[in-house]
Amino acid sequence: MNDRPRTTALILAAGSGTRAGGAIPKQFAKIAGKALVSHAYEAFADHPAVDSVVVVVAPGAEAQARDVLGDVRLVTGGQARRESVALGLAAIEGERVLVHDAARPFVPAAVIDRVVSALDRADGAYPVLAVADTLVRDGAVVSRDGLSRVQTPQGFALEALRSAHRQWPDGEEATDDAQMVRRLGGRVVLVQGDPMLDKVTHPEDFAAAEKRVAWETRSASGFDVHRFEEGEELWLGGVLIPHDKGLSGHSDADVALHAITDALLGTIAAGDIGTHFPPSDPQWKGAESGQFLRHAAALVADAGGRVDFVDLTLICESPKIGPHRSAMRARIATLLDLPEARVSVKATTTERLGFTGRGEGIAAQAVATIRLPEQPR
Ligand code: MG
Repeated sequence: MNDRPRTTALILAAGSGTRAGGAIPKQFAKIAGKALVSHAYEAFADHPAVDSVVVVVAPGAEAQARDVLGDVRLVTGGQARRESVALGLAAIEGERVLVHDAARPFVPAAVIDRVVSALDRADGAYPVLAVADTLVRDGAVVSRDGLSRVQTPQGFALEALRSAHRQWPDGEEATDDAQMVRRLGGRVVLVQGDPMLDKVTHPEDFAAAEKRVAWETRSASGFDVHRFEEGEELWLGGVLIPHDKGLSGHSDADVALHAITDALLGTIAAGDIGTHFPPSDPQWKGAESGQFLRHAAALVADAGGRVDFVDLTLICESPKIGPHRSAMRARIATLLDLPEARVSVKATTTERLGFTGRGEGIAAQAVATIRLPEQPR
């Protein structure tokens, strides 16, 4: 039996977000491959003390929110923040509510814990951070005593916040919900906030927020072989190389790009090149392999990843790779939208041993290293 108070997180994503610039409202803009509002949504949805999550969106933004969040509970908000909260409060159930601004994408589980536990002894609780900088007004230093930076989520007994919204005088704006509950006599307490909760408002805040993301490094390898055949072109690393034979295969048989493509797919466990471009599919006949590599890179980007480094080894007796190395590096770098310094091309022989030694084909192996937002274990 579980008789703890039922808690709903109400995420406010109803702003027009014009201050962040850009064509889309900032709550739908991406940080580390994921919309701002999705980061906060997942933090609450994953927290054991939160029973349900409801997102308040601007009128007309419902479809955009569905695109980003999928099948979640949405409430259509109003013009002002207070109206949006009131509409959200009317749509939820349970005994407690956590009101959160989508502009704070990273919500540490420990802050949710502190806010929720504080509600055992108060009508409301919200996280604050001490003001570290010296404050001045008109050039004169103001004491920091008793001053804190207010963050969200702000937690309340649901009935206390509903009643504060009902009683709040029309035409008077309230900067936040805690202020409303306190003004109407509720007991509101402060808990320790977290710098992770800093707001994303201006365009430069997006870059700062990306730095707050915890990244993990992934490396994966790829390997491929194609057979030499008379009358084929020889494509290696996206470069056409003059040679008496070329490699045969369903596509342009660029063994180097295939190995790198598989390495990239490996970093996100997305299968192999055959999964995405089956040789049985006639549309890939003679296909330029650069598009396979670009597709793999796009999948990494969609997962929020960044390619850090690619290292390729070609294994053959001939042609000599050295004269073409820099053209291959440049082409691979272009395909991956990377600086050339992040692409390495190497070559070796097998001392005339085996199929590469006999000149029957070329083998390639690659290692790709990427960064990905930290994944749950
Ligand atoms: Mg291949």
